[in-house]
Amino acid sequence: MSSPRIAVIGAGLAGLACARALAARGAAIRLFDKGRAAGGRLATRRAEAAGQALQFDHGAQYLTARTEGFAALLAACGASPWGEPGRFVGTPGMSALPRAMARGLDLAAARHVTAIEGRPGAWVVRHLDAALLRPGRPRPATEPEAEGPFQAIAIALPPVQAAPLIAPHAPEWPARLAAVRMAPCWTVMAAFATRLPLPDSLRPAPGGAIGWAARDSSKPGRPAGAECWVVQAGPDWSRAHLEDPAEAVAPALLAALGALAGADLPAPAHAAAHRWRHSLVEAPLGEACLADPALGLGLGGDWCLAGRAEAAFESGTALAAALLP
Ligand SMILES: Cc1cc2nc3c(=O)[nH]c(=O)nc-3n(C[C@H](O)[C@H](O)[C@H](O)COP(=O)(O)OP(=O)(O)OC[C@H]3O[C@@H](n4cnc5c(N)ncnc54)[C@H](O)[C@@H]3O)c2cc1C
Repeated sequence: MSSPRIAVIGAGLAGLACARALAARGAAIRLFDKGRAAGGRLATRRAEAAGQALQFDHGAQYLTARTEGFAALLAACGASPWGEPGRFVGTPGMSALPRAMARGLDLAAARHVTAIEGRPGAWVVRHLDAALLRPGRPRPATEPEAEGPFQAIAIALPPVQAAPLIAPHAPEWPARLAAVRMAPCWTVMAAFATRLPLPDSLRPAPGGAIGWAARDSSKPGRPAGAECWVVQAGPDWSRAHLEDPAEAVAPALLAALGALAGADLPAPAHAAAHRWRHSLVEAPLGEACLADPALGLGLGGDWCLAGRAEAAFESGTALAAALLP
């Protein structure tokens, strides 16, 4: 019997875990992601200021493993300890973890999936060059490409992005997705010429602007000589300032960091802000995945279980087992 051909949409940790588990079960996998590479919220941004290489993990800060399976994956992908015992980071950046997981998988990067068509046993994925769908660009006249047939499709996207793809085929699922709540997170990446008078990481008491801040350059394997900081706003501040321009967010959060340091910060050599509209899960689905093996469709992601990378791994692994027992 030939291998089942299965599409996985979303190459974040959940989609990668799902794709690897399906491939291990003998499936032929085609993976789609709108990003330029695999990783999703396990992400690293690079920059330069005054000839100094800079680097920031602007999504997940560190990973923890409660299960043997995830601990083994972190070890296999070269994760290194950082900070408090039990915390691990990708080296030389967080994005090294998903890159290692994606090795050997057939990934169509920079492809935005716009629709799922077809029928059980013969699903078709419609996808378009992600650059054509950037915010602010007019709706493209280009017809999305069609790829298939696939015996099954695993969708590993945040609920808001998964709902329109799944609605025509599993009308009862969008209501389940609507019950899931994810917080936004404004994140500032800043570099300084001198060392700030702060510990390597801080999690201030809730209520202020900042939820977490870390000297990203204290992580192993980062560019030598840099003083790089990642400053994340708390969910309340991020919601209240969601539509603020990035140019206003960076100085506001750096002023809040200065207040925590008890001193005016030096002018940053580099400062940029990134808005995550869906960052940490506040109200999860409460089960490892949603899957209908007869239909050949399933949904997974951290949002099924909890706002932790390990939850994404568990959900993706469970989704693979549900679709291809
Ligand atoms: C600011 C921030 C801080 C965090 N801190 C931590 C932490 O310290 N520790 C921790 O354990 N976790 C942390 N997390 C959570 C962790 O990053 C997530 O739990 C995990 O990465 C989620 O993986 P996922 O695969 O479920 O989703 P994602 O990583 O969001 O993957 C979804 C993928 O789908 C793609 N996609 C979306 N729509 C489409 C489409 N239409 N077509 C094609 N592709 C599409 C996206 O490009 C993305 O790659 C943090 C997250 C954020 C944002």
